[in-house]
Amino acid sequence: MCKKERYAVETILAQAGNRNDGDARGSISTPIYLSSNYRHKDLEDVRNFDERTQYSYSRLETPTKKVLSQTLATLEHGTQAFALSSGMAAIQLAFSIFKSGDHIVTLDDLYGGSFRYFDQLHEQYDMDFSKWNGKSIRALQGLLRPNTRAVWIETPSNPTMKEIDIVAVADTVHAVDPTILVMVDNTFYTPIYQLPLTQGADVVVHSATKYLSGHNDLLGGVVVAKGEKLSEKLMFNYKTTGATLDPFDSWLLLRSLKTLPLRMRAHTANAQEIVAYLKQEAKIEKVMYPGKGGMISFYVQDEEIIDKMFKSLKVISFAESLGGVESLLTIPYLQTHRDMEEAERLRLGITPKLLRLSVGLENAADLIKDLKQALA
Ligand SMILES: *Cc1c(COP(=O)(O)O)cnc(C)c1O
Repeated sequence: MCKKERYAVETILAQAGNRNDGDARGSISTPIYLSSNYRHKDLEDVRNFDERTQYSYSRLETPTKKVLSQTLATLEHGTQAFALSSGMAAIQLAFSIFKSGDHIVTLDDLYGGSFRYFDQLHEQYDMDFSKWNGKSIRALQGLLRPNTRAVWIETPSNPTMKEIDIVAVADTVHAVDPTILVMVDNTFYTPIYQLPLTQGADVVVHSATKYLSGHNDLLGGVVVAKGEKLSEKLMFNYKTTGATLDPFDSWLLLRSLKTLPLRMRAHTANAQEIVAYLKQEAKIEKVMYPGKGGMISFYVQDEEIIDKMFKSLKVISFAESLGGVESLLTIPYLQTHRDMEEAERLRLGITPKLLRLSVGLENAADLIKDLKQALA
């Protein structure tokens, strides 16, 4: 559906997979094809093989993943979307188009795993990285070099919740060199709150493990590219390296996307109530929340209370990850950002007093009650 007419995002997602061309039986929910390969009619069929309409081998394409990818491309206003087996696999695909000697500018406040991967690219493949603090556009300009191939950002940033102006970044970078790719990790805001490709970015990446799937029950990643040339290059690398999403998780992610608009609104409503409570809680020093989405970072007054707090929580779980229906609390200093150098962590404000809450879809009053009793 939605080929000619551009429907609203709620309609696109609720209808995703219904009336899809490949399904002969009229199923409302897209079927899962648990087949690793597909029969060909004859030699002619192979000679004229068209990957967009036919299937041969599941690393290349599956009917379920095709519907998912088309939905994701529509959702992010991109040319082509790729569904992968994890968020890190998605980041790796995005970086597969670079080579030794290339220079990349990244934000200084990112998902910890991204930095670990960038360090590996530097040490093993001789790629160069510079860090931008996300504040001054002039400073960003100063970091660009003749061999700069991309600027990689996350907004809001992780875990300190800085919002980066994507339009300003894209305009600045593309004015210097239109071939420099602006890449945005859109995991925290999702396309419901932010459409980087409509703001000048070239590539969007997601950990679909988080809000896109939203139920803490699958691992997945997404890359969405703007433009045919870039899409073709990524498609070649995607099939060649093969970290594609399997049929079952493709179906589960497609199913989960149907409620994304509803879930994001509910995450925001809950988070706003919790922020109001945390701001007047004496045991909390500072709260960082960009105004929308379900992610809140905050500093406690006294580091000593954290262990007891984690042990006392009855609803919220002390666990990594984010974006699901279940509320989760983490300590980035010891978890997601553990591999970052101590001095760098402290410089960014990732101290042992910083906690990050992924607000789930439980009742807000129950979540506040849980935090209150754990802090008491
Ligand atoms: C979790 C996360 C990733 C990595 O995704 P995985 O699915 O865990 O591989 C990348 N970026 C952000 C912002 C994340 O939160």
